[in-house]
Amino acid sequence: MHIVELKNVTKEFNGVTVLEDINLYIRENEFLTLLGPSGCGKTTTLRIIGGFEEPTKGTVLFEGKDITEVPPYERQINTVFQKYALFPHLDVYDNIAFGLKIKKIPKDEISKRVKEMLRLVNLQGFENRTIDSLSGGQQQRIAIARALVNEPKVLLLDEPLGALDLKLRKDMQIELKNMQKRVGITFIYVTHDQEEALTMSDTIVVMDKGRIQQIGTPVDIYNEPKNAFVAEFIGESNIIDGIMHEDFLVEFSGKNFKCVDKGFSKGEDIEVVIRPEDIEIVSVENGSLNGVVDSVTFKGVHYEMIVKSSDFDWMIHSTIMKPVGTEIGMTVSPENIHIMKKVREE
Ligand code: ATP
Repeated sequence: MHIVELKNVTKEFNGVTVLEDINLYIRENEFLTLLGPSGCGKTTTLRIIGGFEEPTKGTVLFEGKDITEVPPYERQINTVFQKYALFPHLDVYDNIAFGLKIKKIPKDEISKRVKEMLRLVNLQGFENRTIDSLSGGQQQRIAIARALVNEPKVLLLDEPLGALDLKLRKDMQIELKNMQKRVGITFIYVTHDQEEALTMSDTIVVMDKGRIQQIGTPVDIYNEPKNAFVAEFIGESNIIDGIMHEDFLVEFSGKNFKCVDKGFSKGEDIEVVIRPEDIEIVSVENGSLNGVVDSVTFKGVHYEMIVKSSDFDWMIHSTIMKPVGTEIGMTVSPENIHIMKKVREE
């Protein structure tokens, strides 16, 4: 069942197209992330779903009904912004209770629901605290509690962890994901942080320049990027031009390699993507590619090495360190050689 659908959504601001023909189906209880570089149109997409912007063309459906022109407050959708937008002059209880009071819900019921929410976000006993006495992470949790207390069917989150430091951000990523599974609400989440998207999402929508580049599970997006943009954006990659000779046989760096891809035409110009961690260091005699180590950087769990071969600089992540100047052999197994259509720069 799709709870939200965007059909052929295009958005222009002053004649400039910022979203082009967006088609998106969001399932009930899904954690879906819009991921892409700054300015690619993530926030605009979210604002269209929330009703804060109207698309120039196209429709927005909620549970199958056209809501394109329904105002935000009539949608069963709530939003959590990066800046927490809490009321500083109200305490925690009144911040969470705000929406319920407006709806004239009975006092006992409000009190019960606020308590429930505080338990959900792990801040029991914080009712009477002032907003400015809370840490950034606590304020963000209150903002989420305030959005969830209205029992929306969909929660929109725009870079909600952007203002937090790295450690807290990582803790909150896991907490948010668990919270979403517990409450069973659809989360539509915006981030430009690929690691965050990979950690939290059921589905990732990779966007660039107002267009969807790929939709898939984190594993699909990481392992089978559809084009060089996705491959580069999601983690580091070696991307090299190649030629497809026949199904399962590709040429790059002047040599033929077995791969697991088929369905490309003979002689087709393609791009080959190989993850740095998928290149194995072997002896020069056993390498299907050879090169000389040009730089080594210690990265904590692995070393990052740049290895110069005759026509390409390879990035390798390995727990084995070879000093600068060493000649090494490299191999890659066929399933780690990813073939993608060459997208010519416009
Ligand atoms: P960021 O990660 O930096 O927030 P984003 O992917 O969320 O970026 P959007 O905020 O959706 O991107 O912006 C997409 C494009 O639309 C940008 O070029 C932006 O300048 C433009 N834009 C957004 N809102 C407006 C507006 N109200 N008027 C004019 N242009 C706008």
